[in-house]
Amino acid sequence: MAEIKVAIVGAGPAGLAAAKELLGKGVKVDIYDRENFGGGVMSFGIPSFRIKMEAIAKQTQPVIDLGGNFIFGKDLKESDFLELATKYDYVYLAFGLTKVRHLGIPGDNLDGVLNALEFLRQYNFDEKLGLTTNRPKLNGTAVVVGAGNVAMDGARVAVRCGAEKTIIAYRRSREEAPCTAAEMKQAEDDGVVLKFLTNPVEVYGKDGKVCGVKCEVMELGEPDESGRRRPVGTGKFEDIACDYVISAIGQIPDMDVWNVGKIATDHGYIKAVANEGESFQTSVENIYTGGDIVKGAKTIGVAVKCGKDFAKMIITKHQL
Ligand SMILES: Cc1cc2nc3c(=O)[nH]c(=O)nc-3n(C[C@H](O)[C@H](O)[C@H](O)COP(=O)(O)OP(=O)(O)OC[C@H]3O[C@@H](n4cnc5c(N)ncnc54)[C@H](O)[C@@H]3O)c2cc1C
Repeated sequence: MAEIKVAIVGAGPAGLAAAKELLGKGVKVDIYDRENFGGGVMSFGIPSFRIKMEAIAKQTQPVIDLGGNFIFGKDLKESDFLELATKYDYVYLAFGLTKVRHLGIPGDNLDGVLNALEFLRQYNFDEKLGLTTNRPKLNGTAVVVGAGNVAMDGARVAVRCGAEKTIIAYRRSREEAPCTAAEMKQAEDDGVVLKFLTNPVEVYGKDGKVCGVKCEVMELGEPDESGRRRPVGTGKFEDIACDYVISAIGQIPDMDVWNVGKIATDHGYIKAVANEGESFQTSVENIYTGGDIVKGAKTIGVAVKCGKDFAKMIITKHQL
């Protein structure tokens, strides 16, 4: 039987899990990533006090040992995916969500407004990956907007980067926060102040630099489509003096990737046309996808399951 060749785009948990399973069955696997290391968000997003490089190596090393070929430093776009699809039997798109939603409020372009993923990345490049000596330094008060795991990590890293006070501003209540109770407790143990029912509506600036944030006091209304009670503005406002505003209001796809328009997407997320378990086929026959880019921001476990199910689909189809 002719050798099966698979190109994987994204060396995060989905891509690594797929690679490991396929390599174990003799499939030739090339893994492309725009970074110069594997692990995806586990490496450049989650800080080392939560996941150490040794734990990530447990996912990358078996791929290397089994003969997986990493091709790093390749920032690919849709045109590249389509070209890979002509050279490989299958292409697996597992390139995650690399952007953070813009705050979209007046003043959100002031000096001192930071994007949580970029901030975490800069910290991890220095502290965790040892690739720079460029650890961010904060002086004063940081307000982190959001209450998911990106917000909790962003706040805990702000503390470690010198912020004297770190406040999380979240428009719903503690019960609706997307992060776990344990993550919230860890942030509080680090001295982070959690302010609920607090919705930033404007960033104040002085001489082009953040000096505060205006927040609307919220209350909870009827449940929305997510099942959580909707935050409703009360018309009352509160000002918080601060030096930084860190946006962590949701990861989104990098729209710049989609430069052809052949692979069906919805707001930048890949649209699956068929699935076997968590193996998702795109609108291009031999291009499959998995992980956050198709499921939305989920977890490492969900991404690993996607990668395994994609491999299982190939293994079953080709009786490997
Ligand atoms: C700060 C933070 C904390 C988190 N904490 C947890 C947690 O505690 N527990 C948990 O289970 N989950 C957590 N998550 C979620 C989890 O990390 C993700 O769900 C998971 O990493 C998604 O895996 P993935 O393989 O889909 O993509 P990713 O991990 O995002 O990997 C995608 C890879 O693709 C590469 N890439 C992107 N674009 C391109 C391109 N155009 N060309 C080439 N390569 C590209 C990236 O460099 C990256 O290596 C956290 C996420 C964040 C951001």
